[in-house]
Amino acid sequence: MADVKSDIEIARAAKKKPIMEIGAKLGIPSEHLLPYGHDKAKISAEFIASKKGGADGKLILVTAINPTPAGEGKTTTTVGLGDGLNRIGKRAITCIREASLGPNFGVKGGAAGGGYAQVVPMEDMNLHFTGDFHAITTAHNLLSALIDNHIYWGNDLGIDTRRVVWRRVMDMNDRALREIICSLGGVANGYPREAGFDITVASEVMAILCLSTDLKDLQKRLGDIIVAYRRDKTPVYARDLKADGAMAVLLKDAMQPNLVQTLENNPAFVHGGPFANIAHGCNSVIATTTALKLADYVVTEAGFGADLGAEKFFDIKCRKAGLKPAAAVIVATVRAMKMNGGVKKEDLGAENVEAVKKGCANLGRHIENVKQFGVPVVVAMNHFTTDTDAEIAAMKEYVAGQGSEAILCKHWAHGSAGIEDLARKVVALAESGAAQFSPLYPDEMSLFEKIDTVVKRIYRGSEAIADKSVRDQLRQWEEAGYGHLPVCMAKTQYSFSTDPNLRGAPTGHTVPVREVRLSAGAGFVVAICGEIMTMPGLPRSPSSEKIFLNDQGYIEGLF
Ligand code: ADP
Ligand code: MG
Repeated sequence: MADVKSDIEIARAAKKKPIMEIGAKLGIPSEHLLPYGHDKAKISAEFIASKKGGADGKLILVTAINPTPAGEGKTTTTVGLGDGLNRIGKRAITCIREASLGPNFGVKGGAAGGGYAQVVPMEDMNLHFTGDFHAITTAHNLLSALIDNHIYWGNDLGIDTRRVVWRRVMDMNDRALREIICSLGGVANGYPREAGFDITVASEVMAILCLSTDLKDLQKRLGDIIVAYRRDKTPVYARDLKADGAMAVLLKDAMQPNLVQTLENNPAFVHGGPFANIAHGCNSVIATTTALKLADYVVTEAGFGADLGAEKFFDIKCRKAGLKPAAAVIVATVRAMKMNGGVKKEDLGAENVEAVKKGCANLGRHIENVKQFGVPVVVAMNHFTTDTDAEIAAMKEYVAGQGSEAILCKHWAHGSAGIEDLARKVVALAESGAAQFSPLYPDEMSLFEKIDTVVKRIYRGSEAIADKSVRDQLRQWEEAGYGHLPVCMAKTQYSFSTDPNLRGAPTGHTVPVREVRLSAGAGFVVAICGEIMTMPGLPRSPSSEKIFLNDQGYIEGLF
């Protein structure tokens, strides 16, 4: 397979159009496109405001089965479907997340799609892009600095230095900074205390930026952030430190969605990128709602598998932003079915129809789950060259038995030409008017009951269990007026259970909630069910070792 080009080689050969032309196709006047070079632009806040009240296109969610460690090709399929819809004559915009820079130097794959379904410029997108994440890092760390500064100058707010919950962030995998002691070195440097760093995408500022409807809403949410508690356990807010105004200033440009293009010169909005475990894992509300005003179809993706990603997309993003998805695509691969059917990663290359059939139970569960939200479903089989006809047939047959259709998609190898059938099916589903979206649980339900509802109806566990301390904490938040918030589940993405090795479609497991956290600015309560890493480390041989500039000055080794 010497002729198979790498993602970066394909991206480099792309015939990009000037970004103003891409914007013009969407009816965005050039004065409302703020160019970042020739191939990226931000869309002005004035233009976005001018579109309020207009008609909306149809929203299509791309989600997936429980992933294999390599990723199932959700982003690739999201980009491919956007191109496919454009190919069959629909006006479609792809909305995806921005990439976290740090993990690219570890093991992670890129965030711009793959093969012949990518957004470009992929190097920029995977690196500094338009600086949004740097702005988020800076706004977050301004608040961190203000906390220690406030304590230094006398601590009028009575912050309990043992209960500062706001950490620091940076966009780099660095395990050495997970737990630190700050303010060492004497009187002039303040009061030493334990602190630590998370990766930028785990910042609540990221989640806030992605859920805010405009700059005013952004500033209000920033003010609502709880930074610490006093000795009497009452919260201290970012607003108490008068941090919200300056943070909003730092985020002013970052709030504007970024317009780029696909390899086929179709528009893509790439904006925001919250963690999919302790946050909701979707691109920004402002990008999605703006795209809906400009296109007939907006294709967007949610992180991880549908048990986490789609549930949060529906219960957090759609609930909060009033979005009504018209159809959902569940991405599945033959190799992931095999893994869910018990095959080891090393053995995925060999045909194993029985394992495919066994693993399909995982897919079936996700189909049922997504339908529970009142959204019609189609399965996209992302084709890998190792898939055999018998394996493909087995998967199609299984899905048909579930009352849905599985469509073979070859966008990775052939671009939009390989995904026309899926595009047509998505149009048919969306136009059928079959969607009757409603979130899984009502706002009024108690916080613990919300967690238990997700466990029972999505993970098919027997119940959520938690110590008294966790339940008491939830009750206190309810009394403090946070009971109406949705819950954000942080759990392994590899299984419906909390055991990453328990693949397929387990039932009857309990889901222990170890800890709960309140993201008061973002507007959700995080339920932590398992080991959740908010500052990744680098592997023994990080991919940075293979990344370099070649003699022409081009980047090599970045995917
Ligand atoms: P996800 O969004 O599910 O994490 P991506 O779309 O980012 O997955 O794809 C992960 C990696 O897999 C990318 O490097 C991409 O090029 C590769 N990939 C995706 N689909 C295919 C395919 N059909 N065949 C081969 N490689 C693929
Ligand atoms: Mg992805």
